[in-house]
Amino acid sequence: NMEVDHPLLSEIGRVFETAGICDYAVEAYLKCHKIDFAITCCVNLNEWKTAIKLAEEYNVPDIDSLLHQYASHLLAKEKYLDIVELYRKANRVNDAASVLLKIVEKIKQKDDINPLLLKKIYVLIGFLYEEKSALLRENKRENLLSSLLKDDHSVNTAASLFKATDQPWKGAEAYHFYILAQRQLHDGYVDAAMKTSLHLIDYDDYIDSEDIYCLIGLASCVNHNFKLCSKAFIKLESLDSIESEKRKDYQNLAVSIFTKYPPRESKNMSKAECRYCETMIADWCVVCPNCNTKFPLCVASGRPIMDSAQQWTCKK
Ligand SMILES: [Zn+2]
Repeated sequence: NMEVDHPLLSEIGRVFETAGICDYAVEAYLKCHKIDFAITCCVNLNEWKTAIKLAEEYNVPDIDSLLHQYASHLLAKEKYLDIVELYRKANRVNDAASVLLKIVEKIKQKDDINPLLLKKIYVLIGFLYEEKSALLRENKRENLLSSLLKDDHSVNTAASLFKATDQPWKGAEAYHFYILAQRQLHDGYVDAAMKTSLHLIDYDDYIDSEDIYCLIGLASCVNHNFKLCSKAFIKLESLDSIESEKRKDYQNLAVSIFTKYPPRESKNMSKAECRYCETMIADWCVVCPNCNTKFPLCVASGRPIMDSAQQWTCKK
């Protein structure tokens, strides 16, 4: 219990630091106003949370570099969600989102993709930006775009990050409808499944095209819409991303299906009337081909909401 600024305090801090007793070391350093010593001590002893707390408390200017140091420390340990939480608390949404997008890339490289996990990650991205924009509305000091430009990211993540800033929920929507279509298919709602799968074409930035057209092909085949099915197969066979062996498989499968069931227009494509121009359009259209009106998609059924008076939205 020494006085403030006692000459021995700094030395005592050093002794505690070498002994690995972070709390006492920090206390000693703080008593002699050696804040940078205290922070370095925390960093050396891996007490990152204390380091950042101190930096915030004493308004240390290079808190950013401290954050990044801690993030790379966590990265080495593959503690991705801790990094996200760290950045979220520091109000660095773009950094948090880019970490999440890196996880997404990692998952997509695996053979066995878990779409539910991807959806959850995209939902988290959506929430991050929602939280950020709520904050921005409260105090308009910060400009999302300028903070985006300030951060330097690798080109690839920057592009997907821009997508995320632009439409933070789109990735979550993509995997939501991807899962919904498959659930409808398994539950026997084959017509609904086919129509939901058609919407996935808009999400080919997020979902692999091969997966999308496979699903459309399968759903339309089960639904006996062989005209659509053949279109899906034409797409699959012309994809650049697949190997020639797979292309052959698709071709053979197409031949075996369509010799038995010729790809005619099927009867069961039901029509609906556009509310605005009264044209009869396919009931799964999200954009009226006649008047270009856009209809929002229902997340529960995967169908376009043609009459907005009848929609129900959660108030939150
Ligand atoms: Zn119309």
